[in-house]
Amino acid sequence: MLFRLLAIPNLHFYVNASLAGYTRFEIGGAAKVLLDAGDENALIEVRRAIEESHWPHVVIGGGSNLIVSDSGFPGAVLRYTANRIDFDGTCVRVDAGTILQDLVDRSIEHGLRGLETMTRIPGWVGGAIYGNAGAYGHSIHERVETVRFFDGETVREIGNEACEFRYRESIFKRNKNWIILSTTLRLEPADIQQLRDTAERILKIRDEKYPPTMRCAGSIFKNLLLADLSEAVRAQVPASVIREGKVPSAYFLEQVGAKNMEMGPIHVAGYHANLIYNRGGGTACQLREMICVLKTRVLEKFGLELEEEVQYVG
Ligand SMILES: Cc1cc2nc3c(=O)[nH]c(=O)nc-3n(C[C@H](O)[C@H](O)[C@H](O)COP(=O)(O)OP(=O)(O)OC[C@H]3O[C@@H](n4cnc5c(N)ncnc54)[C@H](O)[C@@H]3O)c2cc1C
Repeated sequence: MLFRLLAIPNLHFYVNASLAGYTRFEIGGAAKVLLDAGDENALIEVRRAIEESHWPHVVIGGGSNLIVSDSGFPGAVLRYTANRIDFDGTCVRVDAGTILQDLVDRSIEHGLRGLETMTRIPGWVGGAIYGNAGAYGHSIHERVETVRFFDGETVREIGNEACEFRYRESIFKRNKNWIILSTTLRLEPADIQQLRDTAERILKIRDEKYPPTMRCAGSIFKNLLLADLSEAVRAQVPASVIREGKVPSAYFLEQVGAKNMEMGPIHVAGYHANLIYNRGGGTACQLREMICVLKTRVLEKFGLELEEEVQYVG
């Protein structure tokens, strides 16, 4: 297998790569091999090589929403690292390996509105499409025209509706074998200074909430859509905590005493019950234990099952 990989142009690989170095939590054991495919041909060839050798494989992006097992991943971890951004009027076509913040910054420089509220969401564009990332009442799906991906057999392109975007959901989450290659987004002309002001305001707030060196994944649990909650649960939620039809998971977590909880170096923030971080040296085992305890407490008190936004590897 490794000899075959050597022959693939534009592919970089790292044997026995510690995945802690590729995740924002800085947690996780080693992958048998980490593969960075720099273009579509490299990606397709490497994916075929992996399948033929029957290695287990998983795709990751910037690693900002991942909990990797302490024993790592017993196969190939694949990243698609192509990162071109091409503007054409109000349309932008961007590769999945582009850092989301680079896309946000370039769109603002082009005087285009639509992504500025995503300022400081970490990760890459592919990860953002996969989880329909968003903040401040907007998510990326509002701007998506098409998504191009490799389904294991061929490269396909689908439109916004076919992506089945929902709150932190997309068709890609349910088809973990598909690899997002690029997307085309439709933005709107706007005043550059106004966009910069919005982005700066958001940046300031977010850097206080999530200091750039904090080892975390943002919110651990998805918020809850009010419409999905049972009458019994709704009755326990004060109207003042409902925002844009959603109830923050943090509300339920606060009620079960999550704030400031500790499990070794794994902490729940004192100012945000849905923010778990690693103070350094924490393990996936401790992190999963903390998540499990919190879910159990919320289930017991409210009869409500919280769902992780964070994704597990290994
Ligand atoms: C401090 C902080 C703040 C955050 N704030 C927010 C926020 O406000 N809003 C929000 O939505 N999220 C937020 N997040 C979560 C995270 O930034 C997003 O989920 C982000 O979009 C993940 O992108 P990534 O490239 O890091 O993906 P990864 O974490 O590497 O992967 C996440 C998932 O995406 C899949 N994936 C990644 N790339 C591809 C691809 N090319 N093809 C197919 N599947 C792929 C992986 O298989 C994995 O299941 C925050 C995280 C942190 C650390």
